[in-house]
Amino acid sequence: MAICPECESALDFEEEDVDEGDVVVCDECGSEFEVVSTEPLELTKVEEDYEDDDEDDEEVEEEEEEE
Ligand SMILES: [Zn+2]
Repeated sequence: MAICPECESALDFEEEDVDEGDVVVCDECGSEFEVVSTEPLELTKVEEDYEDDDEDDEEVEEEEEEE
């Protein structure tokens, strides 16, 4: 049983049912993970690509100034 690296819920798929390159989605937190390796099972988080024309939606880096 694979565990979601984000929320530690059980991911609802069988390890033998996925291949490298497959993307699985966590039912609990909605995160997507790409299968980078099957033996052992290794997942890497798929970062969502926001549409480029939605520039106002980008995160603004906040710089903290401490003295
Ligand atoms: Zn999750």
